[in-house]
Amino acid sequence: MIDLHTHHQRCGHATGTLRDYVIEALDKGVSVLGLSDHAPMFAAEEDHALPPVAMPKSEFPSYIAEALALKEEFARSIEILVSTEADYFHGKVDAYSAALSSYPLDYVIGSVHMFEGKDIFDVSRWGAVDPADLPALKSRFFRTVADCARSNFFQVIGHVDALKGNFPELGEVPAPAAADEMLLAIRDSGAVMEINTSGGTKQCGGWYPEFDLLERALHFGVPITFASDAHVPGRICDQYPDVVHVLLDMGFTTWTVFRRGAARQCPLA
Ligand SMILES: [Zn+2]
Ligand SMILES: [Zn+2]
Repeated sequence: MIDLHTHHQRCGHATGTLRDYVIEALDKGVSVLGLSDHAPMFAAEEDHALPPVAMPKSEFPSYIAEALALKEEFARSIEILVSTEADYFHGKVDAYSAALSSYPLDYVIGSVHMFEGKDIFDVSRWGAVDPADLPALKSRFFRTVADCARSNFFQVIGHVDALKGNFPELGEVPAPAAADEMLLAIRDSGAVMEINTSGGTKQCGGWYPEFDLLERALHFGVPITFASDAHVPGRICDQYPDVVHVLLDMGFTTWTVFRRGAARQCPLA
């Protein structure tokens, strides 16, 4: 089992230490564990711009140092990859690239969390939405994720249709042209798409992305990886067997993992 997307208490909204996640992964027999807590708000002025969302900039060196020490300590039992999940903000990627360039990261996850002025999971954004606008809204979100991929900074593109998280109806809304544009942008950037099982922690349930996007991804040859997006240690590899079963049925054969930025394929099962 692999899991390239996990958090821990430094971000301010997850529980458990890094060591707790490593121990849980060992207990579950995980072979590759990515530590990928939320990156600090590197484009903001303040050290700790959004306390409930991400660690202070000044905390990042100790995060990486602790992750690297765990990688070393447990090297004979589990492969630990050191990463971070960075927010994608249009025009701000350089701030992240500059801040992260000196660290020996295995990969960086690029995720759209803020979209058109609000957090994607903020339920207040849905109060005044006109159902007729939903296809256009979903298309704009997919095009923002496509921009994230086209920045060519990220190796993994996070939860690509998570705008549906707290508005489940959006999952079924068709936006095929923008979806294909996004999938091709991910593939052509050399990045991979997450199969992220944290939908189950939101109103939408299920996974990011929807099955129709998975089928299109297979058609286009978009590589994939597994992401629990665990914010508690117990969610590591959540629903992993179900995901593998569905992917094998669809025709996928491999996961992609990254070591110091280099993509490697490993068999799904
Ligand atoms: Zn989080
Ligand atoms: Zn995320």
